Amino acid sequence: MSVKTGRGPKPVTRPPGAERKSDYSDPAPLPEDLQEETRLRPLRLDEFIGQSVVKEQLGIFLEAARRRGEAMDHVLLHGPPGLGKTTLASIVAHELGVEMTHTSGPVIEKPGDLAGLLTNLGPRGVLFVDEIHRLSPVVEEYLYPALEDFTVDIMLDRGPSARSLKLNLEHFTLVGATTRSGLLSAPLRSRFGVTLRLDYYGAEDLAHIVRRSAGILAVEVEEAAALEIARRARGTPRIANRLLRRVRDFAFIKSDGRVTLAVTREALTLLAVDACGLDEMDRRLLDALITKYGGGPVGLNTLAVVVGEEAGTLEDVYEPFLVQEGFIRRTPRGREATALAYTHLGHEPPAARGGETVPGSRGAGTVAEKPGPQQPELPLS
Ligand code: ADP
Repeated sequence: MSVKTGRGPKPVTRPPGAERKSDYSDPAPLPEDLQEETRLRPLRLDEFIGQSVVKEQLGIFLEAARRRGEAMDHVLLHGPPGLGKTTLASIVAHELGVEMTHTSGPVIEKPGDLAGLLTNLGPRGVLFVDEIHRLSPVVEEYLYPALEDFTVDIMLDRGPSARSLKLNLEHFTLVGATTRSGLLSAPLRSRFGVTLRLDYYGAEDLAHIVRRSAGILAVEVEEAAALEIARRARGTPRIANRLLRRVRDFAFIKSDGRVTLAVTREALTLLAVDACGLDEMDRRLLDALITKYGGGPVGLNTLAVVVGEEAGTLEDVYEPFLVQEGFIRRTPRGREATALAYTHLGHEPPAARGGETVPGSRGAGTVAEKPGPQQPELPLS
């Protein structure tokens, strides 16, 4: 399988200049990752670690497509960044023995750009569109007949002599990836035959990924060290691999190059990663929520201003992990700190009501409020 890049490298969601204080935990790829990730990326489905439900379903669709000698159904992959969406797209292409063209929603500016990509696909080829929720409506509209009937309309000439020509395309598979499936339009979503959701990885699976990557990088890693890295990697393989590389460098400079538990702990302390994998920004966010707003609820935009980060980055990068780990609750009235957030930062959780600790109730020193009606959790995307 070879990968053609449609237009430009995979974009990083952060705007230029908006650097993070501690970038080790950014699940978007950093420039240093791009080179290494190609080496570390599994090529076959059986090398892809964890996500057993996704693997099983994909395995069945791949086998069916292979036996029929046809293109596979269009697949939508959704989940937070760094969990393996690009990897799975390249596995689909590799397992089908076809080429993959890699592009992303915001770089396809006009229908003509998309037409170029589609007409260049080989038989049963894979078109991988990252950040597919950022396709413009006019490009999206243009994609529909390509997905359904494998045809595109090409405009010839302009003005009064303009004509349109229907071109037949090779049967292909669109693999769309998104971190925000809620932003996908219903018509686009309905055109995917298969929708797979990737979830954060457990520590065992991440430790397995760390050991596999260590093997490829030829680094000796103690079992306990692999698990320690895994626990602090925010459930994200990209971060686990990045931490491994940083700890490896630390071990190389400070000791004999072996990644032991002691060396790992020392390196991670230097990187300001705490025992739950929270970084400086996570802690600032929780601290602002608790000490400035009595635990919330606070609107996302207000929080973003207080911690000096983009609201979109908080929503895409920090919040999903903090919600999943039980530090924050999303409610229609805003974000609330849970009792776990209080204790993790060394604060006394707010007074219990009815014998229960109430996450997000007003903290000490603020006027007691009557509890509001129970608010449902908002979906994450
Ligand atoms: P996404 O496209 O979701 O942002 P990627 O597919 O680029 O994430 O994955 C980031 C890196 O993490 C890849 O280079 C790959 O090495 C590693 N990775 C992701 N998922 C797995 C997995 N299940 N098993 C092994 N490595 C993985």
